Amino acid sequence: MQDILPAQKAIHRHIEEVARSVLAGYGYQEIGLPVLEQTQLFKRLVGENTDIVEKEMYTFDDRNGDSLTMRPEGTAGCARFGEENGLLFNQVQRLWYIGPMFRYERPQKGRYRQFDQIGAECFGMAGPDIDAELLLMNARLWRDLGLIEDVRLELNSIGTSESRGAYREKLVAYLEKYRDDLDEDSQRRLSTNPMRILDSKSEITQAILVDAPSIADSLDNESKQHFEDLCQMLDDSGLAYEVNTNIVRGLDYYNRTVFEWITDTLGAQGTVCGGGRYDGLVEQMGGRGSPGVGFAMGLDRLALMLAEKIESSGVADVYVVSQGAEARRVAMQVAEEVRDGVRGLRVQMHCGDGKFKAQLKKADASGARLALVLGEEEVANSSVSVKMLRESGDQISCSRDKLVSYCRDYFHEGD
Ligand code: ATP
Ligand code: MG
Repeated sequence: MQDILPAQKAIHRHIEEVARSVLAGYGYQEIGLPVLEQTQLFKRLVGENTDIVEKEMYTFDDRNGDSLTMRPEGTAGCARFGEENGLLFNQVQRLWYIGPMFRYERPQKGRYRQFDQIGAECFGMAGPDIDAELLLMNARLWRDLGLIEDVRLELNSIGTSESRGAYREKLVAYLEKYRDDLDEDSQRRLSTNPMRILDSKSEITQAILVDAPSIADSLDNESKQHFEDLCQMLDDSGLAYEVNTNIVRGLDYYNRTVFEWITDTLGAQGTVCGGGRYDGLVEQMGGRGSPGVGFAMGLDRLALMLAEKIESSGVADVYVVSQGAEARRVAMQVAEEVRDGVRGLRVQMHCGDGKFKAQLKKADASGARLALVLGEEEVANSSVSVKMLRESGDQISCSRDKLVSYCRDYFHEGD
């Protein structure tokens, strides 16, 4: 499980802030979900034969002997949340959450055992309009993050569980002919979860799949219509996408629309966001049915994409330096006065001794635009020397009682 360093965390925070505002713009409400759920929830909803349940969950017995699992994904828990809180039946909900997910995987760039997701789930809407809205919202987020040029949308429909059953048989019948040539994982999946083979990274398997039957030919009429309508809405909105009939998603609960946002900038870990429709999920959980659709995006991968684009804004706007015990005491008060007087301003005080020159070097490294300098002279005449760190100009002297309004003007000019 990775440690997240300050620079990385700042990017996570930035993504969260942008996402928060985009989600609010579409009427989504944030909820808080627990990190632990009953193991049974994931086994039943995500599916016994999925990668997640087969080999990626952190599962343990608690002191009471109940089997709990650190959530590997958010949709199952969100459906449970909706059901237990009476938010689903005959209601429309647009919900979102943020937090860590846990999967026992081989750690590498863009793949960690603890990673952050923002997920959104919509309940009570069966039509393609909400699918389209969700994708438009995703696109707006990529635009606001400055990533729209780096991602593409791949879209598919996997129909209903019945039509998928018919397709599965055709696929298995085709693949059986090449069983010995398939990669090991795919051979195993032939009997457990054959559609997952479409996802295989093996080149040989992919070559075999070129002539395999396509799921598009097995769709039931309603699913076909739903998908056509969705595509039409995206066309109307000018949102580019590519239909990729090999996208099946790894989880059992999906039906009809499935999609992935993919980037080519992160190597093998190219999927930054994935989701789809799960109309049977609530009923499968034992609730009265409610259609659903949602997505989850990985903050860690988005952060890797943004790392090269975002310039660090440092840790401070104002850096306070002082020399001598008395000046230090005054400096401490001055720093508090400025924090009191200018909301949100980041004021860092130099703690400890040091020559002015050395302290100003630290001031420069902090990213601050102003250094406030206090020495014997300033203390004696109740003033503060103000040094511009990012523009030329002489150091100026400011009386202490005018300092707050000086800083306010300096940082909020042009607001
Ligand atoms: P992959 O095919 O890369 O394993 P996935 O299909 O397992 O992805 P989802 O379950 O759809 O992923 O999760 C949604 C998003 O969460 C992914 O698109 C990705 O951005 C992120 N994600 C999933 N697993 C990890 C992980 N182990 N580390 C970091 N991010 C992850
Ligand atoms: Mg995975």
